[in-house]
Amino acid sequence: MNDSFYAELADKSLNGERLTDAECKQVLNTDSDNLLPLLNAAFKVRQTYFNRDVSIHILNNAKNGHCPEDCSYCVQAKSSDTDITDYPMKTEDEIMLEAKSAYESGAFRYCMVFAGRGPSKKRVEKLSNLVRKIKETYPIQVCLSPGLIDDADAEQLKDAGLDRLNHNLNTSETMYEKICSTHTYQDRLNTLKSAQKAGLETCSGMIVGMGESAEDIIEVAMKLRDLKSPSIPVNFYMPIEGAPLAENVDPFKELSPERCLKILCLMRFLNPEAEIRAAAGREIHLRSMQGLALYPANSLFMDGYLNTKGSNMEGTLQMIKDAGFKPKTDFNLDALLNAAKSKESDLRDPLLADGEVILKRKEDLSPFSA
Ligand code: SF4
Repeated sequence: MNDSFYAELADKSLNGERLTDAECKQVLNTDSDNLLPLLNAAFKVRQTYFNRDVSIHILNNAKNGHCPEDCSYCVQAKSSDTDITDYPMKTEDEIMLEAKSAYESGAFRYCMVFAGRGPSKKRVEKLSNLVRKIKETYPIQVCLSPGLIDDADAEQLKDAGLDRLNHNLNTSETMYEKICSTHTYQDRLNTLKSAQKAGLETCSGMIVGMGESAEDIIEVAMKLRDLKSPSIPVNFYMPIEGAPLAENVDPFKELSPERCLKILCLMRFLNPEAEIRAAAGREIHLRSMQGLALYPANSLFMDGYLNTKGSNMEGTLQMIKDAGFKPKTDFNLDALLNAAKSKESDLRDPLLADGEVILKRKEDLSPFSA
């Protein structure tokens, strides 16, 4: 492979052409000598649509645990023995305070995630009121991850002002039954279709490192292209003791930092205009290569995930600054960085994470609880 091969992939992507399966495989099999030409080509596509902007997302785990589903990678599943802090839906006041904090920290988008199969009609009503209130109070984009929903739920949420609905495909159709038996890949697709029908933007991505093949990764990337998902989180599987999948797969054997970068580049070539997020697990899988993820990806989570810690505000903002990118926010990056520095109490160097998955404590999950 030479530089011109990767440059041609970038041109194909920018021209709206789909890469062939063989080209996708070549991307995933890129050797170390060609990693920079690959990243450079993916950056050309990223830069065309997003310049050097980075969208920072902050997650609010608004309801934790008690999920009747059995997604084997998830610590909130009924099949998981992980000792997590369960709680029902946070109060409106608490969620509003977290939205304020997310906005003032420089987040472009505030994402609320609710564990469970899907919301009741009563819960959809409650969520709609909450979304309306956040949108009236803060100029921040709101994303909701409520589980499976139908057309009527999607319309109600859209009417309330919801910007985006998250529902990940997670893996390929063929792999799906290996990771979950309580709902199907088609159920997930139906939720995404309901959201799109209602005019909601969708956020849908995958988890890599769960034992999938290169073909599975290509299949999901192609499916997301077909769905025209404007937002694609690529999560790197974080094995947590107690979750069934953690006993069966070793993502550290499957995912090297280079492999993670190649997957992000493939996702970029196949989805040139999508917001691609180097999502959960970037710290432990990309490690010292995290800054390079910004060449194909244009989005990150600021400070951790649903049940696990990640980098912190200072680490994320500093990485963006050091790599020469800039967060998409109303605030000045240096001011945000100084504020983050003065706030960090348990500063954790993300580069020291090295395979260690750290569960969040109650005070991390619910910083404004009474
Ligand atoms: S539906 Fe969501 S919260 Fe429930 S087990 Fe699956 S991933 Fe976890």
